[in-house]
Amino acid sequence: MIGERSLLEDDETAYLEATKRVLREEVFTGQLDRDHIESLDRNEETEDDWATYAERMGEHDLLGVSIPTEHNGGGEGIIETVLAEQAIGYEGSIVHACQTSLTQHIGRTMYEHGSDYIVENYLEPMLAGEFVVAQAFTEPGSGTDIANLETSAERDGADYVVNGEKRFIDFAPYADVLFVPVRTSGSAGDRDGLSILVVDGDTDGLDVLEPHTDWHGFRGTGASWIEFDDARVPAENVVGEPGEAWTYITNELNLEHLTISRYCLGASERALEIAIDYTAEREVNDQSLSRYQGVNHKIADLSTRLDAAYALNTRAARILDDRGMDAGRMEGAMAKQFGNELAHEIADTAMQVMGGISTTTKYPVERIQRDVRAGRYMGGATEVMQSIVQHDVYASVRDETFDGDLVGNELEGKPWRT
Ligand SMILES: Cc1cc2nc3c(=O)[nH]c(=O)nc-3n(C[C@H](O)[C@H](O)[C@H](O)COP(=O)(O)OP(=O)(O)OC[C@H]3O[C@@H](n4cnc5c(N)ncnc54)[C@H](O)[C@@H]3O)c2cc1C
Repeated sequence: MIGERSLLEDDETAYLEATKRVLREEVFTGQLDRDHIESLDRNEETEDDWATYAERMGEHDLLGVSIPTEHNGGGEGIIETVLAEQAIGYEGSIVHACQTSLTQHIGRTMYEHGSDYIVENYLEPMLAGEFVVAQAFTEPGSGTDIANLETSAERDGADYVVNGEKRFIDFAPYADVLFVPVRTSGSAGDRDGLSILVVDGDTDGLDVLEPHTDWHGFRGTGASWIEFDDARVPAENVVGEPGEAWTYITNELNLEHLTISRYCLGASERALEIAIDYTAEREVNDQSLSRYQGVNHKIADLSTRLDAAYALNTRAARILDDRGMDAGRMEGAMAKQFGNELAHEIADTAMQVMGGISTTTKYPVERIQRDVRAGRYMGGATEVMQSIVQHDVYASVRDETFDGDLVGNELEGKPWRT
């Protein structure tokens, strides 16, 4: 946030600052230093890098920030969760923030719906930093339309036998555990019949078909197209009730909308700060670029809208804290669409005002610009967020006393009486 953090309580501001300091001094050092962050963009990550990252984040209570400490979580709230994600996007990269974010929303689903077995064997070790995790929603034939997923899980004795393909799955080759929505009954398009399986990464029949190393940004996660070919998963690895996962998924997405937009904003704030420093120093026609209105008004506009985006995100996080994971769908969708569109615009404009040097790797701005691009469709495309907002706006704002019969016939009276 550029201006005063008046929307945050003092202890929340202190949490943000302390988290940034821990990330700088304890996490993104040594093996995970700035060179490592740059190497991710060249797809030069190692399995050990991600295991070390999970371990360090677990040590500092940054995994499952909103889960009680007795389950190895951070013992904080949703507001601290989004602040942590903002800090990781700012101090590290959004792919680091993504790995952590998985523990935030998957963690809540396991905590709220998982059996004792799931909590002891998966949630608690995950939050202690013992697991690298992946979430495998997207399929070749279903992305934004999750209910159309076709990966099937058929009960056979004590196991489910899983068949199907998932793509764009970050961390798939490194994951100790994958969180996988599957269809256990019904057919494509049904919201009933979906279940969530927790799948061990070394399960026989789970294979990488193709890594997505060539993609636009967001590199270094080993994102892959994967296949389940008669993979056997114990029935006790179902989270919650079989067939009831639609609600778990939509509740989880309410939080994921906030974490994704917040960490993209954190990364873009970094790009904006670099652009401010650069344009203050760079002289064109013997005057600082920051003296040109065409430059400084862009900085003013983006700073203003960045604070507005944080405010929207903070409001939505407070709703989840106050009323639970199934609340604040519209406010979360507002925060995601506004935040993710803006994050990309900030990084892109930072490049514009810096000129050609921004296209090189001398500054991280071009990487941030490519990284945050994905936020506009990841975890729910902007257009889907707009659909949610329009639906909930029409449902909540319409005035039943408005007399539709008079529309077009206003000579006969006033439709709007109040
Ligand atoms: C960098 C990156 C990382 C990712 N990581 C993961 C991961 O770890 N796990 C995982 O499961 N998935 C992951 N994904 C997948 C991501 O969540 C999907 O790309 C996203 O859900 C969109 O699905 P799709 O690509 O199939 O697009 P589609 O569903 O085919 O949609 C394409 C476009 O159509 C438009 N559209 C879609 N629906 C609507 C609608 N209802 N109204 C109006 N317009 C609409 C939007 O513009 C959308 O971008 C990742 C993707 C990227 C790029």
